[in-house]
Amino acid sequence: MQTTDLHAHIFPYDYYNDHPIDSVGLARTASLIAEIRAEMANSILLDNGDFLQGSVMGDYIAYDRGLKDGDLHPVIAAMNTLGYDAATLGNHEFNYGIPFLMAALGRSKFPFVSANALVKRGVDARKDKRLIPPYVLLDRHLRDAQGKTHPIRIGILGLLPPQIMTWDETLLSGKLYTRDMVETAEQLIPEMKEAGADIIVALAHTGIGEAQRRDGMENAAIPLARLRGLDALITGHTHQVFPSPQFAQTPEVDLSAGTIAGKPAVMAGPWGSHLGLIDLLLDRDGGTWKVVATRSEARPICLHGDLGGHIPLVKSDPRVLRTVQKSHDATLEYMRSPVGKTLRHLHSYFARVADCPSVQIVCQAQLSYVAEKLAGTPLAALPLLSAAAPFKAGGRTGPDNYTDIPAGLLFQRSVADLYSFPNTICALRLRGAEIAEWLERSAAAFNQIVPGVADQPLINAAFPSYNFDVIFGLTYEIDPSQPPRYDTVGALLDATARRVRNLCHQGQPIDPNAEFVVATNNYRASMQSAIAKSFTATAVFEGSMTIRTVIFNHIVGNGPLNLATKRNWRLITFPDTSYAYECSPRAIPHATEVNGLTLEPLAASSGGFITFRISG
Ligand code: MN
Ligand code: MG
Repeated sequence: MQTTDLHAHIFPYDYYNDHPIDSVGLARTASLIAEIRAEMANSILLDNGDFLQGSVMGDYIAYDRGLKDGDLHPVIAAMNTLGYDAATLGNHEFNYGIPFLMAALGRSKFPFVSANALVKRGVDARKDKRLIPPYVLLDRHLRDAQGKTHPIRIGILGLLPPQIMTWDETLLSGKLYTRDMVETAEQLIPEMKEAGADIIVALAHTGIGEAQRRDGMENAAIPLARLRGLDALITGHTHQVFPSPQFAQTPEVDLSAGTIAGKPAVMAGPWGSHLGLIDLLLDRDGGTWKVVATRSEARPICLHGDLGGHIPLVKSDPRVLRTVQKSHDATLEYMRSPVGKTLRHLHSYFARVADCPSVQIVCQAQLSYVAEKLAGTPLAALPLLSAAAPFKAGGRTGPDNYTDIPAGLLFQRSVADLYSFPNTICALRLRGAEIAEWLERSAAAFNQIVPGVADQPLINAAFPSYNFDVIFGLTYEIDPSQPPRYDTVGALLDATARRVRNLCHQGQPIDPNAEFVVATNNYRASMQSAIAKSFTATAVFEGSMTIRTVIFNHIVGNGPLNLATKRNWRLITFPDTSYAYECSPRAIPHATEVNGLTLEPLAASSGGFITFRISG
């Protein structure tokens, strides 16, 4: 059994909107775990990482309550209650720093493994020094069909994307090192065999990406699955579901068998939405175990109704709720504290197609904060801009994943709804030409459309909304009929392609050599080489304040928010042409608010989304 990407979702609760919800929460997945344990003679339960960060409760524990000596983290408490056999670390485990992570792990009753989170690199993976053990050998007794028991040693190897060093550079630089996942597994599987592992399971916090093996790849499931000696592959990180039709076109995938490169594999969805299951039928011949048949399944906790509702398939496990009740209540109390007022409904439903006040408020808060910090320095002479992306904008996390704050009182939870990641404030100094590249990177979010054709899918599903930065303080247009200059991970595709048009600062075409300061977050600042190889941007300000706090202070300091949408960017449309845009059904009443675009709701689409037709 697998859980993955729980992101501190234990209660089936939407903390942003302060109401219960049937689509998330380990308390729900726990009921599926109980079903399997009742059905099966033999099972183990594994978590695949990204468990500490990602819900308002996770941030509350990390930033507001803290872990004092020996405090039990509520997520670890819930996992202890469920009796996990082993777990691994995801990239987000490092978001609050290593001491916080180690304090949380210190109270677990089950082993954590990670073979490529290193404190010192050796000459090869066998010689690396690691933060925690690389693998665990679980000695279990399996009951066979006749009720006889047999000893087995199950090896569980933990892996995570080496990109943690970029994503959390400020917290990890000089303290942690990594190694390629496939290389690590390749070198450690034989060692696990030597240590007597009868079967080997890779617990890999990685998605199902390219088939081609590359050093340091982030989503390495396919090359990992090919490794000799590996019996089963547990995946995650990309918040998808495997097996599912999402992977119908993926090389080396057999959906009906639930295999990748012939190996059984699984990926449960994020936030406890599914329980991942790999069924291994084992045969023991003398002293050797052999896998004779396999089956994979991702079992959901709910179904998505047509108009954004959910049909729950299981109830919460009361033991899990009880374990986390106090932290849940404390989180709610904190999140319900009022912080200010908005005169306007703030939502992110159309942030990927038009100017959006819920993104502009983040830009404005960053901009005022950095302006204050740079005041009186020579940098204050440079024009100041601000970059932000819509974090909650549907996508793989589903149709509930939008910012939606009604006019009226703003609470701590509203601030969290506006900014859901634990990023800190930064500023970069760079040239106009680099800003144009940055925006081209964002413009890769759109599929290339053909003028004159109706209902063409607009958003490239492989492009995550958190990379769709808009740069506030400029005006520009994006032309999706042009080929993208960059691919979805930021590699240059076509050096002659340009989608960003009429890029202006204060109404004048931007000078490629003019210098600017851009307020942004630490994640983007460390990712700048991923924006464009030619970047020579330098960080001129790095604060320790979270952007959520920057926004909180901005709201508290400015009285009731009365945000008029500022003209920033615009999507180009064509006559007799329309785009198909998937969004939440809750967006329907807001469809007429979008400046310059006509949006018309069409049919319900898959997974609880609805399709809008966009025209000029
Ligand atoms: Mn995750
Ligand atoms: Mg991850």
